[in-house]
Amino acid sequence: MQTGTIGVTTENIFPIIKRFLYSEHEIFLRELVSNAVDATQKMKALAQAGEFKGELSDVTIRISLDKEARTLTISDRGIGMTSEEIDKYINQIAFSSANEFLDKYKDKIENIIGHFGLGFYSSFMVSEKVEIRTKSYKDGAQAVKWSCDGSPNFTLEEIEKETRGTDIVLFLDKDSDEFLEESKITDLLNKYCKFLPIPIGFGKEKEWVDGKYAETETDKIINDTNPAWKKKPVDLTEKDYNDFYKQLYPAGAEPMFNIHLNVDYPFNLTGILYFPRIKSNFDIQRNKIQLYSNQVFVTDSVEGIVPDFLTLLHGVIDSPDIPLNVSRSYLQGDSNVKKISGHISKKVADRLGEIFKNDREQFEKKWDDLKLFIAYGILSDEKFYDRAKDFTLLKNTDGKYYTLEEYNNLVKPNQTDKNNKVVYLYTHNPEEQYSLIDVAKSKGYDVLLMNGQLDSHFIQNIESKFTDVRFARVDSDIVDKIIPKAEEVKSSLTEDQISMLTPVFRSQTPEKDFYMVQFEPMSASDLPVTLTQSEFMRRMKDMSAYGGGMGYYGELPDSYNLVVNANHPLVTEVLNVVNSTLGSDLKEISAKMEPLENERKQLEEKNKEMKYEDIDQADKDKTEDLSKQIEALEKDKSAKLESFGKQNKLVKQMVDLAMLANGLLKGEALSKFVRRSVELIEK
Ligand code: ADP
Repeated sequence: MQTGTIGVTTENIFPIIKRFLYSEHEIFLRELVSNAVDATQKMKALAQAGEFKGELSDVTIRISLDKEARTLTISDRGIGMTSEEIDKYINQIAFSSANEFLDKYKDKIENIIGHFGLGFYSSFMVSEKVEIRTKSYKDGAQAVKWSCDGSPNFTLEEIEKETRGTDIVLFLDKDSDEFLEESKITDLLNKYCKFLPIPIGFGKEKEWVDGKYAETETDKIINDTNPAWKKKPVDLTEKDYNDFYKQLYPAGAEPMFNIHLNVDYPFNLTGILYFPRIKSNFDIQRNKIQLYSNQVFVTDSVEGIVPDFLTLLHGVIDSPDIPLNVSRSYLQGDSNVKKISGHISKKVADRLGEIFKNDREQFEKKWDDLKLFIAYGILSDEKFYDRAKDFTLLKNTDGKYYTLEEYNNLVKPNQTDKNNKVVYLYTHNPEEQYSLIDVAKSKGYDVLLMNGQLDSHFIQNIESKFTDVRFARVDSDIVDKIIPKAEEVKSSLTEDQISMLTPVFRSQTPEKDFYMVQFEPMSASDLPVTLTQSEFMRRMKDMSAYGGGMGYYGELPDSYNLVVNANHPLVTEVLNVVNSTLGSDLKEISAKMEPLENERKQLEEKNKEMKYEDIDQADKDKTEDLSKQIEALEKDKSAKLESFGKQNKLVKQMVDLAMLANGLLKGEALSKFVRRSVELIEK
């Protein structure tokens, strides 16, 4: 027997491995099985190259547990190791034979897993002792046993071993009981080894014999050695893709479509990405893209590796060019990773463009589900926008789809305002805004449906790109003001009449929110009263609701404009009733007000040229006194008008109709409205 000290520079590498190297102890199994796969693939390559003339035999890798002895064993029929090789590859940690081997057999071997650095030594994270029993494939090789108890000292001795290959025996330490459980090992194998290219057996298949389950001789193979992403797209049917999806996410609903990635230059990458059907808001995050390196599962947190918006997709990416077992921040800065990320983004855009071109009908059918991905892509990746702009669709309230260019051509002739902006009208809720949409349509305008989670951001993004386009929600103003044209409609009300009617209408607005009464000259056939909400304020509030950092706007009450049609006959009718009911009262107030106002005007005229400090104190006092009196009279006037308005059913009815059109009339107010309507009809 030979003893020695393994060639590590620091005495205490094992505690370091244990505590710091891998945050998750469980990956030891992935490392050891990967090594076994590696050794087996080398063996197969040698046989193929004719350098090994013997029997390859069954190369299944077997995992076995012995609870009594507290051992976990990984056995392979790979190339094995001679004692020299153990010394070189195991004792001198820094040495990896993979590179050497690769150099020699480059052309014949496709899959050598050589990325795992301290792979084998990770077994000490869970073991108090590790044994390697191995016999090289080389003619007349002597089998050897290497044994190490976690100190830097090892022993090496000759043993009897019949078959070629390596058994790694882990004597699990007292903190690692969990790895003696069959179910735990099954879980880990399923997680990390499900698609490894060499069959992996864990336990035996069971069979129903004589009324009970009994183990058969057949190994229970836990992996699929030839997963769909490794196959050629031409060899796969739609069903194969869907079946593979089910294999990845057993509980997942059928995906919309897939993208098969197959790149070999300038880096190596294969995979299948799926566009999932989105059921609820963001539950898509539950199933994640899985990242593999030569069929070994690495991680399913791919942030920073694939473009952000693609983390919403499902599926598999497999690349030996992604460095493994390095920190996330390193990954994100890695130039290979950046190239890969850019490439995936391009592939996805190409594929979407292809579907759009070849089968637009199909594409439109899927658009509602797809939209979130594409909007997210456009918002987060300028390059993706460039690729996606030709198949990004807008949907209108009639359910028709247009590309950005088509839509611009559609509405430009009719919806260009006097400042040469093309105005895109939209609604976020076609039910609630039905009557407003109707008004817009009656003018020959088109209304877009914008009810997606990202639409408010999407709208701003499009506005920043198409500077001659402006989006406006149908309730942001009366439609003639949203798309102001050159010709102006004349108002049939005077300034005085407007100031008289303003308190009348204001009296009927709810107190909870802020209402601004405003008179606009519109066509007599337009609605008498309309409720609007400034596009700017609403967007700011929406953004702050999304957590866009505009808290100030979020705290403001909702504010609306109550737009009264100055040319509507019902409004004229109200004016007439005001005059007949309050006419003499109002005249009286005006008669009192007139001399006060005149006097104030004269004083102001007299002191017009003077600085405030130089004005005679008596004049100042007088002006102030006059203002107070005028104000009191005005208040009185307003109060009279408001109390008139409060009792006027016609005004109430018009205001309520506007509220109703915006979905703001609810509960008690709604039921009162209905009763009042009946009364008005009965009259
Ligand atoms: P890496 O796999 O990155 O090279 P490891 O520490 O896991 O690093 O393994 C070191 C070397 O030991 C491997 O390169 C390989 O030459 C050898 N080795 C490990 N496991 C086996 C095995 N099961 N069969 C044959 N050789 C092995």
